[in-house]
Amino acid sequence: MSETDPWQAVLERIDDGARLIGLDDGIHRMLSVPTRVLEVAVPVRMDNGRVEVFTGWRVHHDVSRGPGKGGIRFHQSVTVNEVKALAAEMTLKCAVVDIPFGGAKGGVQVDPRLLSDFELERLTRRYTIDVASLLGPDRDVPAPDVNTDARVMAWLMDTISMFRGEAVTGIVTGKPVAIGGSLGHVGATSQGVLICCRAIFHELGMPMAGARAIVQGHGKVGGPLCYLLSSAGMRVVAVTDADGGVYNPAGLDTLALADHVARRGSVDGFEMADPLDPAKLWEIECELAVPAALENTITAEAAESLGAKVVVEAANGPTVPQADAVLERRGIVLVPDILANAGGVTASYFEWAQSRQGFAWEGQIVAERLRRIMETAFDACWHRSKDLKVTLRRASVALALERVGEAIRLRGLFP
Ligand code: GLU
Repeated sequence: MSETDPWQAVLERIDDGARLIGLDDGIHRMLSVPTRVLEVAVPVRMDNGRVEVFTGWRVHHDVSRGPGKGGIRFHQSVTVNEVKALAAEMTLKCAVVDIPFGGAKGGVQVDPRLLSDFELERLTRRYTIDVASLLGPDRDVPAPDVNTDARVMAWLMDTISMFRGEAVTGIVTGKPVAIGGSLGHVGATSQGVLICCRAIFHELGMPMAGARAIVQGHGKVGGPLCYLLSSAGMRVVAVTDADGGVYNPAGLDTLALADHVARRGSVDGFEMADPLDPAKLWEIECELAVPAALENTITAEAAESLGAKVVVEAANGPTVPQADAVLERRGIVLVPDILANAGGVTASYFEWAQSRQGFAWEGQIVAERLRRIMETAFDACWHRSKDLKVTLRRASVALALERVGEAIRLRGLFP
């Protein structure tokens, strides 16, 4: 196993949390293995008539607290261990925000940029049928993740609905609003990250107004977040993505940047800033650093030279375990992924509830309930970290394991 193997990293964190709370040994063992891992071959007829075969997975980590919940990611470097790790993080995340779901995740090893729209649709529909035996409003409810969006969710819902001969809206979240999606789902992860930024700055007695922020990633989460941070009075001084980076010490015009990304597909080439080598991002001196891209980007080495005082993890698994120790030694406070980015799955919970009720909530109600759940979760993790005298990450995992452990204990072991 490489030291940045994501599944190994999650297991280490689960082991640590289990020790912190004295988790029952049998329950600890159950949570150290995913409940089920389905690997599928996904054949797709390409536009040129050739058949390509992609590999996909759907993993349930633990479903004691409710149906599996978690996104589907399309990425060329997805591996089974990554999907297992992401599923386990969903178990912990749903427990941290105390919503009635277990942890699941899906992935297909494909670079969607190389597919036409029709190829992407055929891939989505075939993958959906291949993993359909695991899905259902009471079984497992997928959602968007890296490189998947409302359109992909609509195809997924339609495929299952055609197959079953009835509209199965509760089978997926992150759907377009026109077919049963929820107001406020788009941007909910970024909103949740902002709520955590406000909370941690408040606890540390740091003003947000005028403080400097750097953001890695300008996609579904990083993009809206840049705007939200600057609306909160922060100076977003640097943003990078897979193709480049931009830097402006006076603060970037985040609306103009979003406009540029919408036209060009990357922050690269944005005129109202200097170009920035993405490898230099973490060194920039600032108050807040937000990884909002893929995993393993804050390595131990990056942590040594990190220029921020606070890290808020918008991405899943962006910090390797060795870097956690470095940040702690350097007094850098980190708000972990399973808390910081839980706004997305919380909005998914609202959407699932609305789909099942057949009753759409007003946007204001969604926003208010999201804020309440995120603030409650932040407070619970913050107080647990004070009580246990450990980092927020270790405290959040401990809190989550306590809740998952209780569900497993109450249900008992079948047969
Ligand atoms: N993909 C998002 C996450 O990692 C959302 C998952 C969901 O809504 O089910 O939290």
